[in-house]
Amino acid sequence: MVKSASPDAVIGIIVAMTHIAAISVIAQTSPVENSNIADNPLLTDSSLPYHVPPFDKIKDEHFAPAIEAGMRDQLKEVEAVTNDSEKPTFDNTIVALERTGRLLDRAQRTFSNLNACNTNPTLQKIDKEMAPKLAAHHDEIFLNSKLFARVQELYDNRNNFAAANPSGGGLGLDPESVYLLERYYKDFVRAGAKLSDADKEKLKKINAELATLQTQFEQNVLKEKNASSVVVDRKEDLRGLSDNQVASVAAAAKAEHKEGKFVIQMQNTTGQPLLGSLENRQLRERIMQTSLARNSHGGEFDTRNIVMRTVQLRAEKAKLLGYANWAAYQLEDQTAHDVPTVNKLLGDLAPPAVANAKREAADMQKIVDQEKGGFQIASWDWPFYSEKVRKARYAFDESELRPYYELNHVILDGVFFAAGKLYGLTFKERHDIPVYQPDVRVFEVYDRDGKPLALFLGDYYARPSKRGGAWMNAYVQQSDLFGTRPVVANHLNIPKPPPGEPTLLTHDEVRTAFHEFGHALHGMFSNVKYPRFSGTSVPRDFVEYPSQVNEMWATWPEVLKNYAKHYKTGEPIPQALLDKVIAAEKFNQGYKTTEYLSASLLDQAWHQLNPSDVPKDAVAFEAEALHKAGVDFPPVPPRYRSFYFSHAFAGGYSAGYYSYIWSEVLDADTVEWFKEHGGLKRENGDRFRAMLLSRGGSADALGLFKNFVGRDPYVEPLLKRRGLDRVRSENGASRSPDKTEGLQQTGVR
Ligand SMILES: [Zn+2]
Repeated sequence: MVKSASPDAVIGIIVAMTHIAAISVIAQTSPVENSNIADNPLLTDSSLPYHVPPFDKIKDEHFAPAIEAGMRDQLKEVEAVTNDSEKPTFDNTIVALERTGRLLDRAQRTFSNLNACNTNPTLQKIDKEMAPKLAAHHDEIFLNSKLFARVQELYDNRNNFAAANPSGGGLGLDPESVYLLERYYKDFVRAGAKLSDADKEKLKKINAELATLQTQFEQNVLKEKNASSVVVDRKEDLRGLSDNQVASVAAAAKAEHKEGKFVIQMQNTTGQPLLGSLENRQLRERIMQTSLARNSHGGEFDTRNIVMRTVQLRAEKAKLLGYANWAAYQLEDQTAHDVPTVNKLLGDLAPPAVANAKREAADMQKIVDQEKGGFQIASWDWPFYSEKVRKARYAFDESELRPYYELNHVILDGVFFAAGKLYGLTFKERHDIPVYQPDVRVFEVYDRDGKPLALFLGDYYARPSKRGGAWMNAYVQQSDLFGTRPVVANHLNIPKPPPGEPTLLTHDEVRTAFHEFGHALHGMFSNVKYPRFSGTSVPRDFVEYPSQVNEMWATWPEVLKNYAKHYKTGEPIPQALLDKVIAAEKFNQGYKTTEYLSASLLDQAWHQLNPSDVPKDAVAFEAEALHKAGVDFPPVPPRYRSFYFSHAFAGGYSAGYYSYIWSEVLDADTVEWFKEHGGLKRENGDRFRAMLLSRGGSADALGLFKNFVGRDPYVEPLLKRRGLDRVRSENGASRSPDKTEGLQQTGVR
């Protein structure tokens, strides 16, 4: 199934800058004389368990001084490495660099995590001010010629190191260390270390401006989302909503001091959850039009110019670094590797996906016509009528499910239960660890041998101070070098019910909970030496793979039976309903695949431009790009329009939104592997952990996958899952690939 959960997983994970990657300019200024400094809790390592940040002691005013002190410290540390009079060695250069910037990492990681999940105007202001300074700090390290010369010398001799003593010790390096050296060299080159001094100056200016633009984009998207709530005056216009949903929109109105009215808050995606239930067509249209217009209808949060300027600067940066365009630059470092490969993947999938969506639209049109509706299915009708088709075809609707999906059961008896069966983990809730928001829950995670493994924070509810979507991040990363154990968090955006009401999830929200916990496992099982490789520090088009695999347990019968219990009666979900849920997973795949591919294609279209081709009219460019790709089917708009597409313009997924479906090829294939090997078993979990989850980014990503399944990946399980194999053969557009064909042959890799 499409895991609408995953592309939703907005930024998926926050890949906080590794410490070396963080940075600044203010280094030259005199130390900040600040009375807060002495009692600034960010300046010292936390004394709490697992070094979790002391959230109760951290105040907004602590961040800027700590980040600035962190940058100054790191520059001093890096200077010592650069000016070491000894000949460069792996230890005095690469490991020494890996040790720099711990204060900055701690301050910045805490700041960026809290700014994402619990922001306020002060944090947003700090973010805006710090972004260009951090970009400059990064440049100061990675564009340092003298430092790069040391890295280059080691890199040129890397085979000598390994060959000198393959077993490690002496001059020999273990494989993880050799890989670290290679990664550092690439990081420097990709950052511009080989450019002329004049070009380095140009690059620094571009980086500083890009950092500011990204921050502005993110903030405008959040502010526009909060400003776009649809206010409904009359209760009768809410026909179709459950009592629980009505209570939620009434509570939202109260929170905005609009007592007696109803407020429908926007989610960051184009589609909005209540569209599936609302019977009033005018209201549905109003919601969808409001959603689509976000950030491109003028006003202070408009992002059209930010998008065009960002694209311009990225194209110039790519050219400066010797690449055809930004996508080529970004993809080189991914497992997909190049533009033609990604274009082929998206180009191959788009026609069958759209054909599938058109068939689904025809099914719905029949219902509209039978009801003598007298209109053509539009984007605001899709979720409502697809629910009707679902009811007719699978004889259930989402509202029947929700009583069985109570948050506590889902997490403790579902997500944690599956991790217990697969990996032998146990969980104990702790109430003695301070949190930044009263809804946040803290669990200590114990390993299969009963020893403490990690700290897990669950932050499940939506609030205006939280970015949209769902994601995982790490407050502390595992590494042997520092002897640290992980502190990771999951963030969801589940609407909070009124006091006293249970939190009942949708099927998608349940999947998202499993998805994000897949990222959490990747972070918690990390067993690497160097922080550069910890947990989810893997290529972006690989990072969604373990998390998507973990979604499979959401509907695994043994797991489902354990958590899907009626919140009132405790009765397990009826087998018949369960069967229908599983059968319905292939439902609506044309829509889900098309809306996802449209956004992916937009992301590529913007980022495959030359500097001279950047358009003056962003809206027209967007329409043209969708038309050219053959996905301009108005009933299925892109999952994100360019102007609120944070993956592409605010975070680390630029030219990388294809990653979800790329990872899904590996995911679908791995799901087959688990099924063939007996499913939910410790043996299987232990193997996945040992060969993949524990390895982080310490080895070639695709190599880890191949070791695990014992061969190259196949694309067929993905096509089957999304119902694309059937459409392909029916259309005669292309035959469904032979089972013996590897991804290499079908161009998906
Ligand atoms: Zn994800």
